[in-house]
Amino acid sequence: MQHTVRGPIVFDGVGLHSGKPARLTIRPAAAEHGIWFKRTDIRFGDALIPALWDAVERSPLCTRLVNAAGASVSTVEHVMAALAGCGVHNALIEIDGPEVPILDGSAVPFVTAILDKGLRGQAAPLRILEIIETVQVHTASGWARLSPADTPRMTFRIEFADDAIGTQEKSLEMSNGTFVRELSDSRTFCRNSDVEAMREQGLALGGTLENAVVVDGDKVLSPGGLRHADEAVRHKMLDALGDLMLAGAPILGHYEGHKAGHAITNMLLHALFSTPSAFRMIECTGDIRAKMPGVGVLPEEIPEVA
Ligand SMILES: [Zn+2]
Repeated sequence: MQHTVRGPIVFDGVGLHSGKPARLTIRPAAAEHGIWFKRTDIRFGDALIPALWDAVERSPLCTRLVNAAGASVSTVEHVMAALAGCGVHNALIEIDGPEVPILDGSAVPFVTAILDKGLRGQAAPLRILEIIETVQVHTASGWARLSPADTPRMTFRIEFADDAIGTQEKSLEMSNGTFVRELSDSRTFCRNSDVEAMREQGLALGGTLENAVVVDGDKVLSPGGLRHADEAVRHKMLDALGDLMLAGAPILGHYEGHKAGHAITNMLLHALFSTPSAFRMIECTGDIRAKMPGVGVLPEEIPEVA
């Protein structure tokens, strides 16, 4: 069965890159609706933006969606990861500005509020996208791959010069609340040496030491330090789950990212959908459903964060 949220859920905050305040409301939506954003501050013209891979516009350091009329919403990846990880398939996300609030830099505020409100089952079968043939994309900086698997799985590797991050690799089965327990509280991160360059480009204007982990060499500048020794790679997996949610259906397969990021994961979805032999849409039976990320998630599994 498909699921939506039981009622509206409101978040207030500022955008990480724009620094602009925004109110975001996740509202229930009918079966077969999918996930859509609606810019409530746009009075004239089309303010509805689909949360789909082919609406992604190239954008540095975040995932930005744009509709045919030019209305856009940026930094959608953490709220999309929370919806994927909690098993929400249908929702209308209203927002009164151009960028999703960054909150604490992770997905845990979204997850906590979604699980507090609860989910509602809908009288429509859930279809999932099963990978039946490996698809891979490369860039100069990294690669990403989707391959067949009986259980959704993610593997990610990062390599940073700063010792506070260094080389990290993690592989997780995504069933039974793994996202909520293992990934949802990991925050976005950056190198202190990049902060000035980002600000000159008009990015990270809403960034603080509280909503991003900032590292400098072997030091973590954010007060309180890390939530996990490998918080950085966990956050990259969180981002990838959010970006893969833009496939429009949960994916049954193994995602691997090697020094990948938003642009590579989106290239991978383009490659997937231009290779019809690589996937099939199947109706979710009980045993497949039991393996999907949002099933079996309990509110008490949400990590406690400072
Ligand atoms: Zn992120």
